[in-house]
Amino acid sequence: MNAHAPLQTHAAADCGPEIRVERGQRAVFCGLTGIVWLHRKIQDAFFLVVGSRTCAHLIQSAAGVMIFAEPRFATAIIDERDLAGLADMNEELDRVVTRLIERRPDIKLLFLVGSCPSEVIKLDLSRAALRLSQRLAPDVRVLNYSGSGIETTFTEGEDACLAALVPGLPESRTASGDLLVVGALADVVEDQFTRLFAELGIRAHFLPARRSGDMPAIGRGMPYLLAQPFLTGTARALDERGARRIPAPFPLGAEGTTGWLQAAVDVFGVDPTQFETVTAPGRARADRALARYRERLAGKRIFFFPDSQLEVPLARFLSRELGADLIEVGTPYLHRAHLAAELELLPKGTRIVEGQSLDDGLDRCRDARPDLTVCGLGLANPLEAEGLSTKWSIELLFTPIQGYDQAGDLAELFARPLHRRTRLEV
Ligand code: SF4
Repeated sequence: MNAHAPLQTHAAADCGPEIRVERGQRAVFCGLTGIVWLHRKIQDAFFLVVGSRTCAHLIQSAAGVMIFAEPRFATAIIDERDLAGLADMNEELDRVVTRLIERRPDIKLLFLVGSCPSEVIKLDLSRAALRLSQRLAPDVRVLNYSGSGIETTFTEGEDACLAALVPGLPESRTASGDLLVVGALADVVEDQFTRLFAELGIRAHFLPARRSGDMPAIGRGMPYLLAQPFLTGTARALDERGARRIPAPFPLGAEGTTGWLQAAVDVFGVDPTQFETVTAPGRARADRALARYRERLAGKRIFFFPDSQLEVPLARFLSRELGADLIEVGTPYLHRAHLAAELELLPKGTRIVEGQSLDDGLDRCRDARPDLTVCGLGLANPLEAEGLSTKWSIELLFTPIQGYDQAGDLAELFARPLHRRTRLEV
């Protein structure tokens, strides 16, 4: 066992959530995992991981739950080299990329994704991307970002990928009259939001777009809404281009979706009656869908291990819309500004732990014996073996969960493990 890491408490329990910072060993996937949902979203992109056999195994097993005829990711395996071998390594990378593009002319955007083996760290992937981009222009654009486990937890891979896209987004003088929605959403969710914004008289663009040639233009003063809470670097890059973030909760559950849409309509000056008319049917559908889960989840005690950075909005949804009790809300990183609206909605005294000391977290979880533990794949099996019900947080990234019409599906994701445990016990 690790020595217990010190906790720093940042806020008193009687004035909002109690936020603690914890440091120690962690158990979170690296940013390469994001490739599994990003390659489905950007349909003419390819993700080439420059890494080791371990990286290849991780990607294959994370994506193994789905079957694709023609996957749009692969790993260029870099074996141990000394510094003298670096020139060869660049040549080899160029050869792999050239072969790939010859074989797959459908690829328009290629991401070189860095990883943590020391041989890869020695390689300058940004120079490689520039060199290859020049060579393959105008047919293919090559960008790079890091998915290394040293620098990123699993959703931060998406952040790094989107941040890499921002400097190349076209400039527009007229874009400031439109809305930019930032964060990969399932196509079905994106279509629903496009319709809702259109009914509200707002023209919305999405980053990332489904095709690399359709990436949105941005302009100074363009308002943007984050659709995901883990996009710190992307938001910074957008701010540098003069875009303005709209402070909002995240569109999880009926309340979160309404708050998110409301934040946009406030900026665009939409008439409140129109907002009410457009959102009322969705709210009613979400309420009906959630009613049957309230019985199953009310009073259930939930423990979140830090994993996806979705934990705070999910905890708010479970507590306020389904009546669950929050024992602890762990999150790998807490962006206090991006999550300000969410933190305000949490019950007073909710324990939020930012960062992780794995053994301490496990001790607290075992002491509490929660009804449901939301955690990464690596922790789920041992905790199940100890008789605890678990929910894999990675499923929350693979499943469409945002918006009114997905509120019931989101509740179902939490209700299902409880139902399974009850049946096992019976
Ligand atoms: Fe590859 Fe590092 Fe991720 Fe392991 S943690 S899969 S070595 S990038």
